[in-house]
Amino acid sequence: MNLFGKKILVVGLAKTGVAVARFLAKRGAAVTVTDMKDAAALQPFLTQLGGLDLNLELGVHSVETFIAVDMIVVSPGVPMDIEPLRLARERRVPVISEIELASRFIEAPVIAITGTNGKTTTTTLTGEICRKSGFATFVGGNIGNPLIDLVEQGEAVERVVVELSSFQLEAIECFRPRVAVLLNITEDHLDRYDSYQEYIDAKVRVFMNQTGADYAVLNLDDPIVADLAGTMHGRICWMSQRRELEEGIFHRNGEIVFRWDGLEEVIPTAGFRIKGVHNTENIMAALAATMLTGCPALLARRAVEEFRGLPHRMELVREINGVGWYEDSKATNVGSVEKALASFNDITWIAGGKDKGGSYAPLAELVRERVRCMILIGEAKERIAAELGRYAEVRMAATLEEAVGHAVAVTGPGGVVLFSPACSSFDMFRDYEDRAEQFKALVRKLPGAEPR
Ligand code: ADP
Repeated sequence: MNLFGKKILVVGLAKTGVAVARFLAKRGAAVTVTDMKDAAALQPFLTQLGGLDLNLELGVHSVETFIAVDMIVVSPGVPMDIEPLRLARERRVPVISEIELASRFIEAPVIAITGTNGKTTTTTLTGEICRKSGFATFVGGNIGNPLIDLVEQGEAVERVVVELSSFQLEAIECFRPRVAVLLNITEDHLDRYDSYQEYIDAKVRVFMNQTGADYAVLNLDDPIVADLAGTMHGRICWMSQRRELEEGIFHRNGEIVFRWDGLEEVIPTAGFRIKGVHNTENIMAALAATMLTGCPALLARRAVEEFRGLPHRMELVREINGVGWYEDSKATNVGSVEKALASFNDITWIAGGKDKGGSYAPLAELVRERVRCMILIGEAKERIAAELGRYAEVRMAATLEEAVGHAVAVTGPGGVVLFSPACSSFDMFRDYEDRAEQFKALVRKLPGAEPR
């Protein structure tokens, strides 16, 4: 792809936008960067662009600019349906994501990971297995570094592992991963999509350019994912925790079994540090994706055994007087909370935050069976109480500190306090990490046994 002299518009100036603009400018493109925020708000990113020959259009999106360029590269945070993008597409201006741009310059096999939940855990673990197997590996996309950084640095790698959100997948054209993994699909981001179906359609795009030489790793236990079989062009590797498979990867009595092309690998799970049904799903996906692309079973197993998981995903903060305090701030949708609630009994559940428009009703049965008391915070608290309040005791809290106070009061020995919000954090916190740190700080201050 020759970029020299091409007029290219980069929409959205954050980490990815900076990387894309830098890459394009260095390749001789005539680059304009636009963002609805003004220069003051974008100062840190503008500093990173220093020294490059670029046009800036900040605080505004002008339609004239959008329709006058040869190509538009959209950053992940920018909604694809904004008016100027729609008009540009109408005029047949190609609109692509950073993933699409970068993939045109990448030769190493790409393992792409998507799904509603478990992407970051699975992507990180997949990268670890590739590295352990001796492959020079780049891990990026939605986590860590944008993929375009890899291209810009010109580093030679043998495996590329990318985490992809539905937003990035909306603007791919030719992106064709050697392995594409779809972990699960449950309702999320209904604040950004018109319908659940639209969100599903965006996720499924990860498979659209695959051929018979590629692999689709699909979760048979997820009804929506299982239904996609007929639409795949790549070879399907199913995974299941419920069924033994003749071909694919499955979990059976403390073992993960991978059967492929007449061979069988058996991997015991006893030595794994990350636990829970959801992590078994993530581990199976990572094992399948890596063994399909040449990683030996023994080294893959070692890498999984060494993997300690990531913070803010069902992390045990402290145990105080026989009560385990878990921080799961990354659980921003109902699907992830479902797996968290299924992991414990006798739960004091702290939830709430910014509502994303989905239904909380799928949690009803778990709440009835396992939650003793729910403590609700944030904008969504009334809605959660209306949908789930009849299944457990409800307490409302104005602040996270008050919620923690209620939790101390209502939780007895043997119980668990689980902060698994089912909502995003932007009503009361900077982001989910800030929310996590504030919760942990409050829990660490509680009187009782020493912090872990
Ligand atoms: P993502 O990158 O898709 O948001 P993470 O690995 O960051 O996924 O995990 C996000 C949340 O989902 C955490 O609360 C975590 O405990 C939970 N989770 C992780 N894996 C799964 C899974 N396979 N299914 C459901 N929930 C999961």
